[in-house]
Amino acid sequence: MGPAEPDRADRLLAEAYAAGAVGSEEETDGSGTRWLLYVPAADARAVREALAAAGGADVTGAEEPVPEHDWVRAWREGLGPVVVSPRLVVRPSSVEHMAAPGQATVLIEPGQAFGTGEHESTRLALELLDAVLPGHGPGARVLDVGTGSGVLAIAALKLGAKTAVGFDLDPVAVAAAGENARANGVGPRLRLFTGGIEGLASGTFELVVANLLRRELEPVLAAIAARVSPGGGAVFAGLLAAERERVGERLASVGLTVASERTRVDASGESWLGLYARRR
Ligand code: SAH
Repeated sequence: MGPAEPDRADRLLAEAYAAGAVGSEEETDGSGTRWLLYVPAADARAVREALAAAGGADVTGAEEPVPEHDWVRAWREGLGPVVVSPRLVVRPSSVEHMAAPGQATVLIEPGQAFGTGEHESTRLALELLDAVLPGHGPGARVLDVGTGSGVLAIAALKLGAKTAVGFDLDPVAVAAAGENARANGVGPRLRLFTGGIEGLASGTFELVVANLLRRELEPVLAAIAARVSPGGGAVFAGLLAAERERVGERLASVGLTVASERTRVDASGESWLGLYARRR
């Protein structure tokens, strides 16, 4: 891009940030100025498309992955808030975001546990959770299977669920979820344990959320379905759109009927599926 086009550069950078870029570096030499954009992989495609639509014809095709530990730093330094809906935003505490009136904020620190809200499957689970939780009433009890950072359980509690139980096979995730719950002021309403669903005390839940890959979900699906209360529902994410038919059949076989669904496409073109199913 030539030095005589600063307005155009500002405009293109604004488009890139709006589409998900989290940082940029400017390099000027005799031949002109180059900008290096930092973009989460999940947003790379959206940023490319936004730049193309804005007339960024001389954007080069080169993309270089940045190692994950740099990403944690990049996140701390400036990853944007994940605005799930007018009722819900997820962000690290270091990222400023002025919540809209009535918008709940979930603070999640980037760490080793999965679940910052950036991944398409977490986002799908959050979107479905936000959409269906009010239908289960203000006293809803929520079960979060594979809680990771605790993001789904914490979001449910901030959106009005009464209590939640979360568990994960990974003790690092459970520790992170506990810290995140405290930071969000919902610690007393969230019970956490390390282990699988067999470690769960008896009882059922108005809403179960499970952001698990299909191969992780299938072995525990019957046990999950048994924990959905009559009239209750379950949100499943972590599935691929191509798995829709197979998963729909599995759900039917455990007494769950798909009531709504949505998909999101990630930067690599993969189409992720989120399902909300009701107990018959
Ligand atoms: N709920 C978070 C994390 C999802 S990643 C989010 O939506 O972003 C999936 C998590 O499930 C991982 O932390 C993994 O350790 C855990 N997990 C996978 N299979 C599990 C199982 N059978 N029981 C409990 N946890 C499981």
